[in-house]
Amino acid sequence: MNGLNSKLIHGNIEKTGFDDVFGSMKTPIYQTGAYGFATCEDLEKSFIGQNRLPAYSRSANPTVTELESRLKMLSGARGAICLSSGMAAITNLTFALCQSGDNIITSRFLFGNTLSFFAQTVASFGIEARLVDFADPSSIEKAIDEKTRFIFLESVTNPQMFVADFDAITAIGKKHHVVTVIDNTLLTSYVFDAKAHGFDVEVLSTSKHISGGATSIGGALLFYDTDKYAGYAHLADFYKKFGTDALFFKLRKEVFRNMGSCMSPETAFFQLLGLETLTLRIDKSVDNAVKVAQYLAQHPKVLKTEYPGLPQSPYYKLSQKYFGGKASCMLHFELANRDTCYAFMNKLQMIKRGTNLCDNKSLIIHPESTIFAEFSKEEKERAAINSRMIRLSVGIEDIEDIIADIEQALA
Ligand SMILES: *Cc1c(COP(=O)(O)O)cnc(C)c1O
Repeated sequence: MNGLNSKLIHGNIEKTGFDDVFGSMKTPIYQTGAYGFATCEDLEKSFIGQNRLPAYSRSANPTVTELESRLKMLSGARGAICLSSGMAAITNLTFALCQSGDNIITSRFLFGNTLSFFAQTVASFGIEARLVDFADPSSIEKAIDEKTRFIFLESVTNPQMFVADFDAITAIGKKHHVVTVIDNTLLTSYVFDAKAHGFDVEVLSTSKHISGGATSIGGALLFYDTDKYAGYAHLADFYKKFGTDALFFKLRKEVFRNMGSCMSPETAFFQLLGLETLTLRIDKSVDNAVKVAQYLAQHPKVLKTEYPGLPQSPYYKLSQKYFGGKASCMLHFELANRDTCYAFMNKLQMIKRGTNLCDNKSLIIHPESTIFAEFSKEEKERAAINSRMIRLSVGIEDIEDIIADIEQALA
């Protein structure tokens, strides 16, 4: 069984899936807080990691463990941790890698809450986020110093649709022994292989594609092989014991366990179901997005269409190289002004007004007045957000219906 779809559908047959006494075809929802042990010795072994039995569901739960195991199959990661949300993945990772006085290098183009976390929340703990221009990798190199703990970027930025030159960035991380982190939510490793391009950690909001259609909120951290942790003083104890898995165990045995942002078993069940159809849904939504982008690009009322899968996009070459032509299900376009955008969006009948991405349903939002509403004029400018911009996450409905809805609303 070598194909990705077979693996995502069947999991690791030898170890799981048929453990259940009834031969349940689905991984059961282990809806329990804690687990009983036959002997004190077994319980002790569970606590010191000498057997794989869970003791308490904040630290481990079999349904969640099965999802982690399938995410490893998807990505080729050495380790995986599922969490309560994508933001929980980012916060846990930051607190595992950084101490007060450290800094992070990241892009001015970031998911709104991630930007707010880096620019506001961590600042109050003495951790500095340095926002640089990822279109110019030398600006990353200039911002690195001995207190830099990680470089963080997104595979396609939302809603700007910017694509970085990933190989150049991971090369900088290697040269300076700084951990590189990719938020690969919009694509997943099915489309962009974070491991092959040298990233050390991958972040996913599993609320998006993996949830199978916005069924639940979740997140994941995926860990790739690296020897960089040897140089991270506050990971020294973990490095001595666990070598290249130091960061994974720092989270498992300390930060993740203590922060308590575990995924619920019910969420893991929904997301296991989502993984079974992941590639079908991504392929269909990308196909649809390409057609919608082509339609918008030729429409006289549309001032601008930004989609890295269109040959006229400045990121077309990079998206071909890194994503094999699958430039996500998201795009943005511009109409004359905010009132025109609102009039158009309010006329839509099938496409839903809402904030999510990568759902089965097509979703539309005016970022400037919603996601970026609390940002100052300067902050909006720095994030390249303007009032003409509309973000569309294209779903897997029939393409004729998506285009017909846009057409009647633009008329
Ligand atoms: C949604 C999203 C997040 C946050 O994930 P939640 O599951 O909503 O906490 C982070 N990064 C990107 C790129 C996202 O789209």
